[in-house]
Amino acid sequence: MGKFTIIKSCIKCHACTRIAEDNFIMEEHSAVIVKQPSVDYEYEECIAAMNACPIQAIKQE
Ligand code: SF4
Repeated sequence: MGKFTIIKSCIKCHACTRIAEDNFIMEEHSAVIVKQPSVDYEYEECIAAMNACPIQAIKQE
């Protein structure tokens, strides 16, 4: 499983925090990754969050 990162200025659309709620939270200026996925369902949710981000700000290393 690759590590997920946020590489661009987030527009706070909340897509990732809704889709992968165990792994992404919204802070004042940006969504942040609070936990890398450690089980299959989290990994799948993080992939879905990455694909849903409207500005392609989420990347997997
Ligand atoms: S999906 Fe992308 S733009 Fe939307 S809150 Fe998450 S990182 Fe920010």
